[in-house]
Amino acid sequence: MELEIGEIKELCDHCLGRLFASLGHGLTNEERGKAIRVIYAMDHDLNISDLYPDKCELCNNIFDKIEHFADIVIKAIEGYEFNTFLIGTRNSREIVERDRIMLEKYGNRGEDIGNELSREIGKAVYKRIGKDVSFNDPDITIVVDTEYEYAEVLPKPIFIYGRYRKLERGIPQTRWIHGEGKSVEEYIGDVANSYFLGEKYYLHGAGREDVDVLMLGNGRPFVLEIKSPRKRNIDLSMLQEEINRSCSGKVEVLDLKYVKRDMVKKIKSMESRKVYMLRIELEREMNFEDLENRLKQLEGKVIYQRTPWRERHRRPDRVREKRIHSIRLVSLDGRHAEIEIISDAGTYIKELAHGDNGRTRPSISEMLDQKIKIERLDVVKILDRED
Ligand SMILES: [Zn+2]
Repeated sequence: MELEIGEIKELCDHCLGRLFASLGHGLTNEERGKAIRVIYAMDHDLNISDLYPDKCELCNNIFDKIEHFADIVIKAIEGYEFNTFLIGTRNSREIVERDRIMLEKYGNRGEDIGNELSREIGKAVYKRIGKDVSFNDPDITIVVDTEYEYAEVLPKPIFIYGRYRKLERGIPQTRWIHGEGKSVEEYIGDVANSYFLGEKYYLHGAGREDVDVLMLGNGRPFVLEIKSPRKRNIDLSMLQEEINRSCSGKVEVLDLKYVKRDMVKKIKSMESRKVYMLRIELEREMNFEDLENRLKQLEGKVIYQRTPWRERHRRPDRVREKRIHSIRLVSLDGRHAEIEIISDAGTYIKELAHGDNGRTRPSISEMLDQKIKIERLDVVKILDRED
């Protein structure tokens, strides 16, 4: 091997070896650097101890501090639950720049210093805690700042799938900006987070019901995302019981299970038909048969819904086509009627009922040729695709 390295007396074994990291297998950079130095000493008939610098010109002997960095990591991860980990490093600009120039000078056959530091600290931590390194999907990533000597812990978020029922009106699905009243998100998230000890959490729902609409039956699918959790091995059947006990009569959860991040996307695009129970007040009394016959004319039909008036500031103005799969008069008591409706995902049921001043056509109000008042609306079931 013919290596003419002008800097041989200026670099430590790690940095020397790292310049040629692609040469030879089964060697650490330190071993590789030492070998190069030995060969050089033999080639030039020199005493090897004369070939070592007091301080490495590239890294300032940063590799002497590996155990110290491992100490910093061990301290930082105290209180975090995890099975796999990965170390990353943030290094001083000067070192990174010197490293880049040196690697280039010797033909970019090496490995950059951040990689080696991360791996060496990882090995030292592994020896002490016995947990595995994962490159693809670690539970926690620890970034060591080698310049200012501290570590940042970045745990992978937790994702929990479930279905919720909303048993009381006036509860929004997610947090209000101005914080009036507790949301489904907070009912579920506060309890969950008291176990996972995350920094924050989000509830991703498969659609949402209005604040004054109940969500009954088998519940609405959701994914709860917990950011930067300290704990991750929580028994979900225990958690489910705990949520249902502390939110009793307001919000209930079922089917909790751990899922991967991609479930959030799936749930957002989930298009499901829903079964609604609508209670209305008629302006004029009608008999049961007449009312039922007129409602039945909507069954199987496509209705055209222009963006509702109440949503006009939040959504673009356009016309949506939705199919009413089934409509059934359940009860009639004077001017009060209960109607069960099964319709496409995203149907505006209140507008289907009152017509929204002609923005939804046809509507129940139009079919009955009279004004109607909505007394109550509930989602009684979300139909899975197989239903
Ligand atoms: Zn060095």
